Amino acid sequence: MEKDDEINGEGNSYTAEFWQYDPRLGRRWNVDPLTYPWQSSYAAFNNNPIYYIDPLGLEGVDQETANSGGGNVGDTYEDENGSVFEKSDIGWIPQQSGGSTESNPTLHGRIKKNVISGAARGTIKKVEGIVIHRTDSNDPKQTMNGFKSGKGTQFLIDREGNIFQTTNSVTDKTWHVGAIKSRCEATGDCDILKKNSGETWKKYALRQHKIEKKKDYPTRYPYNDTSIGIEFMGKHNGKNGWEPVTEDQIKAGVFLIQLLQNRYNLTNDDIYNHEDISRKTPGEGGDVTKALGINQVFN
Ligand SMILES: [Zn+2]
Repeated sequence: MEKDDEINGEGNSYTAEFWQYDPRLGRRWNVDPLTYPWQSSYAAFNNNPIYYIDPLGLEGVDQETANSGGGNVGDTYEDENGSVFEKSDIGWIPQQSGGSTESNPTLHGRIKKNVISGAARGTIKKVEGIVIHRTDSNDPKQTMNGFKSGKGTQFLIDREGNIFQTTNSVTDKTWHVGAIKSRCEATGDCDILKKNSGETWKKYALRQHKIEKKKDYPTRYPYNDTSIGIEFMGKHNGKNGWEPVTEDQIKAGVFLIQLLQNRYNLTNDDIYNHEDISRKTPGEGGDVTKALGINQVFN
């Protein structure tokens, strides 16, 4: 995981304009448009993808069931182009092997399961947000093995744009956020919680976290029980800051975030940079979301 930053109490000072909201898709991305087989088929009324189901009803899943989010995890079907899709717990995703890769080669084999025992720490109550991280490390396998300690994220995107899922279910909880800061302090809607004399920064942060936890989202930031974490491989190089996010990481990030947003009804307002909601190195998530074209204003 990224290194801790000394607590400095500084809020971030993004002045970037708000991300434009597309009422039809519930999102808009300021990057080269990627086309997904289902992208043209969102049903405006429920924001659910109309899944590509074999008209003959392979695997016993009919169109109506699938449209309402049906099908069992593990079900597969083949569309008219020969692409094979599999139902995962975040919806229908292209299967790693088989199928035509002509229409969109980037889709195939996008999410690779690499379940790390010890990474899952219970179950997410409700997915309220997505938190963006950097690993501050070089080797993805080694980094994921480190998740055994209990600190990890559901997803990791390496520099080549491979997406690894480290928990069996997306809604397996991971420890990736830490103690959350106070959102109302950031917006100026409440008094700053004072640190007691003799109280360590850690104890102070935990005391604040406990207070925040009792609030409802989005009055507070999301935390481990309510968010999915995505790590982007990348080193922090002292005064030079974080290494640039690669083009492949950008494409993979857009793909994964859109998938999660669709599944859990999230907008770009529900995407958070780790350093904005907890006490972390500046630019950790911010450099990533900027590269992805999410000019988020966090407060
Ligand atoms: Zn982080």
